[in-house]
Amino acid sequence: MTTLLIATRNAHKVGEIQAILGAQFRCLTLKEFPDAPAVIEDAETFFGNATKKAVEFAQWLVANSKLKTQNLKLDFVLADDSGLEVDALNGAPGVHSARFAALDKNENSEDVDNNAKLLRLLKDVSLEKRTGRFRCVIALVPVPNGKIKGAPPVCFADEFEAQIFDGVCEGQIQFSASGDGGFGYDPLFVPNGFTQSFAELGEDVKNKLSHRAKALAKLKDYFSKLPI
Ligand code: IMP
Repeated sequence: MTTLLIATRNAHKVGEIQAILGAQFRCLTLKEFPDAPAVIEDAETFFGNATKKAVEFAQWLVANSKLKTQNLKLDFVLADDSGLEVDALNGAPGVHSARFAALDKNENSEDVDNNAKLLRLLKDVSLEKRTGRFRCVIALVPVPNGKIKGAPPVCFADEFEAQIFDGVCEGQIQFSASGDGGFGYDPLFVPNGFTQSFAELGEDVKNKLSHRAKALAKLKDYFSKLPI
């Protein structure tokens, strides 16, 4: 069985990723590594941030011999970077989705504040122009085997090559929040073909059609084709 470390501190994302991946994968989380460093997400693309998170966590695990000392078997680090792109806002909040309400601060904002800012910016935008999409980029980095354990990161930087899987879910931003499921912008986002928000549709529906579900379907397909 393949063991992955889901390298995110967003508990909602972890839950969705585990539910979508299913029992085929054994998933570890950052709860198993409480002293893992915080990765600064300063890239200008989802691709850049997802890759940075996966590579930095994998380097940290190996450089600190975490798997050996905790007697854990781990095959890959998986990192998700995702967000909402709104056409009427030229693609914002985009990579800044998590900290949209307080862009000047280097920390995430409350979901309720991000949603209030989005509604405020779109208050004069008509329904047909409230189009947008969730985008998810997943980076998967193999955790190298024993031969380089203990080596300083600079010696094995090339070993950490990321595989990338992406997914997009198109939809519309509604005029007010509805529903109490999901997280982030879910109460405002109505996926195409539906009349309810992700927060109303619930996790079973969301996990079949979301940006994250689409990226993870590609990842599962990749694993299904690997030689055993
Ligand atoms: P990240 O953890 O830096 O990738 O930030 C992701 C941010 O994008 C979250 O904090 C949410 O605001 C937003 N986001 C990403 N995926 C979703 C989703 O599935 N539903 C709602 N909001 C999302």
